[in-house]
Amino acid sequence: MGRPGSGALRHGAVLMCFAPHPAPLRPEYQEIDWQTPRRDGRVRVVEWTCDCRRPVYELCGSGGLYYLRRTAQGERAAESGRAIWAETHRLWIALLTGRAR
Ligand SMILES: [Zn+2]
Repeated sequence: MGRPGSGALRHGAVLMCFAPHPAPLRPEYQEIDWQTPRRDGRVRVVEWTCDCRRPVYELCGSGGLYYLRRTAQGERAAESGRAIWAETHRLWIALLTGRAR
């Protein structure tokens, strides 16, 4: 597997993706409360979406809590609120399946 920021590789004319793409948004979805990023401590990126599409979403951990990070080109990064793993992972799956954004 790749690292964050290396979700896609161009192989000749073919773009090969190794990280998931968020599914199209469903008519009813949970709006994530995106906030200004905190500047605290070490951040561990656990999962991420393919960087051939923007924004890129990452599931991050810091200080025992987890959150989602959204990074779009020419835009400040934004973070969801911090929560325990189970809650953040549920939000991550919802994002990937078009049920949260
Ligand atoms: Zn891709």
